[in-house]
Amino acid sequence: MDTGDFRAWVRESSRLITEQAGELTELDAAIGDGDHGINLRRGFQAAVEMLDDAEANTPGTVLTTVGRGLISKTGGASGPLYGTAFRQAGKSLGDVTDVDAARLGGALEAAFNGIQQLGAAREGDKTILDALGPAVTAYQVAVEKGGDLAAATRAAAEAADRGRHETGPMLARKGRASYLGERSIGHEDPGATSTALILNALATVAAG
Ligand code: ADP
Ligand code: MG
Ligand code: MG
Repeated sequence: MDTGDFRAWVRESSRLITEQAGELTELDAAIGDGDHGINLRRGFQAAVEMLDDAEANTPGTVLTTVGRGLISKTGGASGPLYGTAFRQAGKSLGDVTDVDAARLGGALEAAFNGIQQLGAAREGDKTILDALGPAVTAYQVAVEKGGDLAAATRAAAEAADRGRHETGPMLARKGRASYLGERSIGHEDPGATSTALILNALATVAAG
């Protein structure tokens, strides 16, 4: 994936999040404060605008620019978490101009680690990590089996979709949903859902 592909990923993520903002907000209304779709739509639209203005001539700078945009404009818990994820992913790419399957796997892992360090959640706590963790694993398995970038991102998106659905029966242990205790059970997590959208956008762009 080159710089143009990374820009396309951000635009496709923004498009999907804008399209599904109502659903994300409904999920958040059930176990949070009903703003996840609004927060992320604002953040991604700002990130796209920043990218249109910025030089960002490597994949790494595209991602770090998006990270800055998300941190400054998203709001809520998810803004700094997603912002850090994109910044760490961008940093891990250094100044490479063409990202291969192995490097992209490293970037996804860096995103996961960034969120985990900032938010101190673990898999099973009903958060973003419950979509991203299985996605990173599925991605790496696909690469080990000889899969190319398109196959690995497809595997990651499918694992994120499954992970997102598996948050339904989980008890929330982090973020606002954790205030509900047992009443958080039976609703899918908004952040895991938006993560699945972002990874589906990646698979769409990687498929070419
Ligand atoms: P807020 O809860 O501040 O209104 P959002 O609604 O935008 O923020 O985002 C809520 C989502 O953030 C949750 O669905 C969850 O997936 C994610 N989240 C909250 N806390 C954490 C955390 N510590 N680690 C990972 N993800 C988290
Ligand atoms: Mg919220
Ligand atoms: Mg909020």
